[in-house]
Amino acid sequence: KRRVGVMTSGGDAPGMNGAVRAVVRMAIAKGCEAYGIYEGYEGLVQGGDMIKEMQWDDVRGFLSEGGTLIGTARCMAFMERAGRLKAAKNMVVRGMDALVICGGDGSLTGADKFRAEWSGLLEELVQTKELTPEQTAPFKHLNIVGLVGSIDNDMSSTDATIGCYSSLARICQSIDYIDATAFSHQRAFVIEVMGRHCGWLALMAGVSCGADFIFIPEKPPSEDWQNEMCKKVAKQRNMGKRKTIVIVAEGAHDQELHKITPDQVKDVLSKKLGLDTRITTLGHVQRGGNPCAYDRMLSTLQGAEAVNAVLEATPDTPSPVICIIENKIVRKPLLDAVALTKSVAEAIKAKDFAKAMQLRDAE
Ligand code: ADP
Repeated sequence: KRRVGVMTSGGDAPGMNGAVRAVVRMAIAKGCEAYGIYEGYEGLVQGGDMIKEMQWDDVRGFLSEGGTLIGTARCMAFMERAGRLKAAKNMVVRGMDALVICGGDGSLTGADKFRAEWSGLLEELVQTKELTPEQTAPFKHLNIVGLVGSIDNDMSSTDATIGCYSSLARICQSIDYIDATAFSHQRAFVIEVMGRHCGWLALMAGVSCGADFIFIPEKPPSEDWQNEMCKKVAKQRNMGKRKTIVIVAEGAHDQELHKITPDQVKDVLSKKLGLDTRITTLGHVQRGGNPCAYDRMLSTLQGAEAVNAVLEATPDTPSPVICIIENKIVRKPLLDAVALTKSVAEAIKAKDFAKAMQLRDAE
């Protein structure tokens, strides 16, 4: 029986459990054995009881749970070849040659590196007598399939990452709460939302909540941003609006980038417009809580497709990442998706925003 491992890695995102459930159950339905790898790459490097066979019942109730029930971690050991050597040994010992990883671009980069090194790692394990040639013989190729789990929606080649719509819904819900109190006291609120290289959450939350002004990493504020913002806010206030909401993406106050901090925005609103202004940093509530219906659906469909991709892989097929494009679940070469995502992030870092947009549009 084929043995398929599944893990969640990097930052947690709502819907990751749905992905684990779908991979486990689809693998069993297709006649494979499923293994849960706990605490991301840490579990793969450490082996032992961090790798557990999972039965149909073990993932019962996973669909509606937030976070990741099999844990996630940032694993320094896997960044080094020595760590990946241990991981390869653990996989062979457990009879596993297929791995489905739900994580962000870092996790998927690590996965592809592992796959590229696989045969070299096995050779080394035989040479150092950690494993026998008989043990490694059935595991010539490592099949890797990526699922993108990230609240930021920061992965190129897919319209939505697992978790982004849950996070957006949570942000909107939180802004609704703030709206009520802001309205009552006629206050202004500067709300900081997550998104390091990607302003999707901030932008979509702004559209969904009718924010007055938004700062995102992809768009540099104009020289005159203070007056521009105040003009917009004042216009609304003059028309009778009792509250003001300005959204600042985490990435917009990056020290290397626009350096627009919530404190700065608050000062401008207070001093120039005389508004009673407060700052709310939404923080980790944006990641937590149960996944929305969309993420349950997306993780289930993509998890099932990941198992299909494992079973259909040939030694020549590049590792795929499972995407959703115009409402269709599709496979894309993992390396291309990761490379494109990196290029966009680099263009933003280099303040070449036109290039970043061009790259995103070209997906
Ligand atoms: P995300 O997957 O959310 O982008 P990270 O970038 O922190 O999160 O990556 C998660 C883990 O993936 C890291 O802790 C590390 O174990 C592994 N990883 C990330 N980048 C690499 C890499 N270039 N080579 C090997 N492993 C990596």
